[in-house]
Amino acid sequence: MKGASKAPRKKKEALQQKSKEKKTEAQKEKPKKQPRKRPVATKKTLEKPSKKILLPEVNIGTIGHIAHGKTTIVHRLTGKKTQAHSEEIKRGLTIRLGYADFTVKKCLKCGKYAVKEKCECGGDTEDVRRISFVDAPGHETLMATMLTGAATMDGAILVIAANESCPQPQTKEHLTALEISGIKNIIIVQNKIDLISQERAIESYNEIKNFVKGTIAENAPIIPVSAQYGANIDVLLEKIETIIPTPKRNLELEPIFLIARSFDINKPGTNAMDIHGGVVGGILKQGKLNVGEKIEIHPGRKIERENREEWLPIPTKLTSMTIGGISVEKLVPGGSAGIGTELDPSIPKSDSLVGQVVGITGKMPPVWKKLTLEVNLLKRVVGSKEETDVQPLKTNEVMMINAWTARSVGTITSAQGNKIEIVLKLPVCISKGERIVLSRRIGQKWRLVGYGVIV
Ligand code: ZN
Repeated sequence: MKGASKAPRKKKEALQQKSKEKKTEAQKEKPKKQPRKRPVATKKTLEKPSKKILLPEVNIGTIGHIAHGKTTIVHRLTGKKTQAHSEEIKRGLTIRLGYADFTVKKCLKCGKYAVKEKCECGGDTEDVRRISFVDAPGHETLMATMLTGAATMDGAILVIAANESCPQPQTKEHLTALEISGIKNIIIVQNKIDLISQERAIESYNEIKNFVKGTIAENAPIIPVSAQYGANIDVLLEKIETIIPTPKRNLELEPIFLIARSFDINKPGTNAMDIHGGVVGGILKQGKLNVGEKIEIHPGRKIERENREEWLPIPTKLTSMTIGGISVEKLVPGGSAGIGTELDPSIPKSDSLVGQVVGITGKMPPVWKKLTLEVNLLKRVVGSKEETDVQPLKTNEVMMINAWTARSVGTITSAQGNKIEIVLKLPVCISKGERIVLSRRIGQKWRLVGYGVIV
């Protein structure tokens, strides 16, 4: 078994160093008012100058009601369609989390933000920052997947279609999820302005303003956009740069990598000698990881021993890492990354490790089978057309919980005041003090009802 291809260490370190330098340069430099002298097309100038490669440094989610244009916006900015499966493309919706990276650029001539080499004004652009997008599904039955994505977001773009009244059920549900997950850096995109009159645009703006009043997004900018025609994308990019800065990362903490996807990358019939180990994708929440390190995956795998189930950590070795399609020797927190391991590829196959945590032996967050939580409940149940009051949690009630990228169901064994004890069907690995998202079954659906903090 061999790992994914590696580039020489020196080159990768240089790349990372350069990406930092590049950003500071980009921040310092003011756009040049004078167009640059047209170079004479000699053989030398015809060659492209060697380009510095940026690595993604921030993870931004696109959220909102189904068919409001999340995927179109991601496509507009990244040139990629995040809908990965034929079924998703056929139905025009995102079922799994979609990922795509892009670089925010700035025009050297007019100073506008752009995503292409050439600005609309004809000027050249320079790279500012590379961003990872995570496109969350907007369908109401896929809320658990949306919450898995929310655990990996540094900020979010809430997409609201202006041709529909606001809020639609999942617009409200997704904003509540951001609030519960504690994601503060939010931009609201008022999309599909190409389909409406100016009168409706103002009405829609007022609906949105009214909807976000008193929420975490109260002061979020509202950017009118036509994702379909690319109108106002430069303003959206400018807001991404100012509202969702790259968070300060503490590299000294123990590494915590949250798994949001896992797969077997080998094609059927691959020669045994050429088989790659299992791959997991997700985000490094804190600390740093190095190729060659021994790692562990928690809670790991279930075994039965004397009629009792036990969970054993999965030890393995880190054989390769990629971020933004570039292989690196050292990984620091930023965008969505992939980790190659020595695992038998059947272990992470088909997202089976989603929700698990990668770290270093002896330095992992605890694994919990039973949680004691201090609970904060919402006032109203959101997500459907008819809203009801949230009733207090009761003993013997079955709940769905989201802990980082993990989800599990559990039964409440004790409920006193705002303190509950819940025994989980599948254990979760998460640090004390983190938020556990709580959903309750109402009708046929799991609905968000609040969160708890592990005490
Ligand atoms: Zn320009």
